[in-house]
Formats: sequence, structure tokens, C-alpha cells
Amino acid sequence: VSVRLYLGMDFGTSGARFALIDKHGTIYSEAKREYPKYMGEHVFKEQNGVAARKSEETIDWIRSWKTTLFLLLEDVPVNLRPLIASISIDGTSATTIILDSNTGEPLWRPFLYYESCPDALPMVKSIAPANHTVCSGTSTLCKLVSWWNVRGANKTSAVLLHQADWLLWLLHGKLGVSDYNNALKVGYDPEVDSYPPWLLSQPYSQLLPSVKAPGASIGFLTEDIRAKFGFPKDCIVCTGTTDSIAAFLAARATQPGKAVTSLGSTLAIKLLSTNRIEDARFGVYSHRLDDKWLVGGASNTGGAVLRQIFTDEQLKKLSDHINPMEASPLDYYPLQAVGERFPVADPEMAPRFYFLLLLFFFLLWVGELGRVRKIKRMLHPRPQSDVEYLHGILESIARIEAKAYTLLKDLGATQVEEVFTAGGGAKNEKWTQIRERVLGLPVRQAIQTEAAYGAALLALKGAET
Ligand code: ADP
Repeated sequence: VSVRLYLGMDFGTSGARFALIDKHGTIYSEAKREYPKYMGEHVFKEQNGVAARKSEETIDWIRSWKTTLFLLLEDVPVNLRPLIASISIDGTSATTIILDSNTGEPLWRPFLYYESCPDALPMVKSIAPANHTVCSGTSTLCKLVSWWNVRGANKTSAVLLHQADWLLWLLHGKLGVSDYNNALKVGYDPEVDSYPPWLLSQPYSQLLPSVKAPGASIGFLTEDIRAKFGFPKDCIVCTGTTDSIAAFLAARATQPGKAVTSLGSTLAIKLLSTNRIEDARFGVYSHRLDDKWLVGGASNTGGAVLRQIFTDEQLKKLSDHINPMEASPLDYYPLQAVGERFPVADPEMAPRFYFLLLLFFFLLWVGELGRVRKIKRMLHPRPQSDVEYLHGILESIARIEAKAYTLLKDLGATQVEEVFTAGGGAKNEKWTQIRERVLGLPVRQAIQTEAAYGAALLALKGAET
């Protein structure tokens, strides 16, 4: 029997990738594509010939994503294509496409993940339970309601898909299928495994897609795509998930108590738990993963602040001189802007050390050197030594991470046992050691962190069940 392979594709915020793996998780091939940026026709229609404003919203994303999907399929080595048993795709969460359910033609340009529809918020808040995930302007449901109010009411044959659902549809051809990770922000209840009654009673509920578990077989690849690319006859297409869940899946933290901390521009934590946790105050909510729950929270602290002070080169050099076994007495709350939600809910929270830094430069600028010397002492947070300074910042972010895991436990989640790390900060070994000490837990760099790899694991799951 020849080897069988599983294809995962990730449609993220900056581009798309694929990963092709075998059942052991070994990577056979991977590639990346930037999104081509075509100007959308809707721009000209909308703006009556007035010169188009260059922004993300003016791009024809439908054409761009479709082109990228087929370019990536062409990037899959020809000799490996006949071995592919299944395909899955992840996309950005709450990126929403409304299509004509007879023709599959988009009825409007896609609503992008970050776009907000505050016009729909009062109506959504009036039907949904208090603090429900849909009660945010960027939720899929707000996008649907906003579209419905402005242009939908007379449409009898429309269907809503998320970005990943839509891309998968191009491959399998069955319109109207989603997964319960993508469908969470449109209001799907993954616990009961259905849409809630308050949503089903709305006139636009006819647009909602049917929902399966992530990594469930939808059907065979369409014959024309199969033949064009040389995939095998039994190649199936499986439901996907969101890009951040796919990135979690990549780390293969499959037991309750295993967690992934992402140390990128911001700090995000995700913990596999046996029970579901929701707390709108802290922006904490749970995604279902089969019989477990993926509990997540995102802080505004993280690497972006580091990058404002140090180059990546300096970070490396200075880190080499840090003694991670020694606790830093410095206590910061490094933020780029005012406001924090998790693990401390405080919209007014000021970036503690950033403010002092600005004050320092201001006083330097006005040349009050005598006072500056005093401030410098007052600015006890900024030590003479940059090594100590960085140590203090890394240690402070580690304390915030520890606080975050403690909060999840206090809210009722499974106790964290082991932490995998993803993102730019994961490669800093000194930081890892500091975090091990502060968290009191084993911390390891995740071997795989690409969302495309997580999507490939979903394809594998779909082929095995
Ligand atoms: P993004 O969230 O933008 O995708 P990345 O995962 O690419 O972020 O990580 C980039 C961040 O990693 C930067 O903000 C940078 O400060 C941080 N970083 C880079 N090198 C190091 C290092 N050696 N130690 C700690 N942080 C680092």
C-alpha cells in the first residue's frame, strides 16, 4: 500500500499556505502565497465613478482568494497529488460571504474579519442573551443582520458562508455547509449542537449554513477539479475551522490541561479544558473541540512593545546576558495603548512603563537635566542596564501570563499542566526559562505552529473517521 497524504490549507490575514502531511504528521510539502490584490468592481458601482479609495475594503477578495486557492493547488507537487486522501481549510474567523443559493454568486462583497457593523448591534443585542459572543459589532451575526437590513429582505434564495466554508465549497460543490468553530460567532450553540431558538425565529435564519464538527467529511472533490489537478478518485473534502484554532491544533496539545501561549505582537493563551468557560468581562470564551473545550483569552501585552524599544537583534543579544533563574524586581504592565481586557479587565489601564518612558523623553527634550536625574531615579523601572530592563519586561509579561492561567482556573477551567509556545517570542530560550519559573510549569516551544499544519490534521481526522 502506498503512503496516503492529507492536505491542509490556511487562509490567514496576510496570505495563504498549505501543508501536506502523512498520518504520522511528517510534512511532505508546504508553500505560501501572498494574496493578489485586484480592485473590486463594487467600488466603482458604490462610488459612482469617484476615484476609488485604496483600502482593504476596495479589494475584490472573492477573486483574490479563489485565485490563491487554485495557485496553491498548483504548488502541490504533481507526483504527490495522487496520494492525497483528504483536504481541509481554515480561514479568518467572522469573515462572511453571502451568496445566491441557486447560483453560488456572491450577493455582496465579503465582510472581512475585522469589519464592524455597529448598525446591527442594537437589534442583535435585543434578541441574543446578554454578553453572548454575537454581541460584538464584528460578529458574523452583526454582519448578517446589517446586510439583511440594508439589502437582504427581498432575497429569498441566499446563504451565508464563512471564508473557509466558501473555499471548501469551491472544492466539493455542496452549498451551505460550515463547522461549529466558524459558526460560533453567527450564534451556533456547539454545546446543544444546534442554532438556538432565538436565532431560528428570525427571518434571516434561512441563510444559516448547516453545521458539522471540524474535520468531518463533506463529500468528494468535484470531478473537474479532481481531473484537472490529478487528485485520486476517493479524495474527500472535510470541514475546517478558524485560523487561530488551526494554529492551536498544529501544536498537538490534545489532552486537557495542555495549553498554547502565543507570544506574537500580543499575548494570547488557549487551554484545552474538559468544561466550557465564558466570561464576557474578560473576553474569555470557549470553542468546542469534539468532547473538549478550547478556552481562550487575549491580552494586549506582548512582543509589539518589545519591538518598539529593541530590535530583534538586540533582543537576542541582551537576552543572552539574562540570568533566568533570578527573579527581576521590576514590575511593569507593558501595553502599547491604553486599555486591557484579559487577564485584567480595565479599559482605562495605562501602559505603566511606556508612560514613564514618554515622560522621560519629554523632560529630556525640555532640557531640565537636574530634574531628569531625579526622574531617572523615580523612573526606577528603567534601570541603567538594558539587560536588566529587558529582564524586567520579559518577567512582567510572564507574570501576566501566569495571572491569565490562574484566571482561567478561577473561572472553572481545567488546571493547566504544560504550556507550548508559538509566535516570535517562542524562540527566546531565556524567556522560556523565566516563564517556567514564574508559571511553575514545563514550557516548551511548539514544534509545529502553522495553521496550515493544523488544517492538515483536520483533513487526516476526516479521512480516518
Ligand atoms: P505577529 O503576532 O505579528 O504574527 P510574531 O509571532 O511574528 O508576531 O512575533 C513577533 C514578535 O516577536 C515581535 O513583536 C518581537 O518583539 C518578538 N520577538 C522577536 N524576537 C524575539 C526574541 N528573541 N525574544 C522575544 N521576543 C522576540
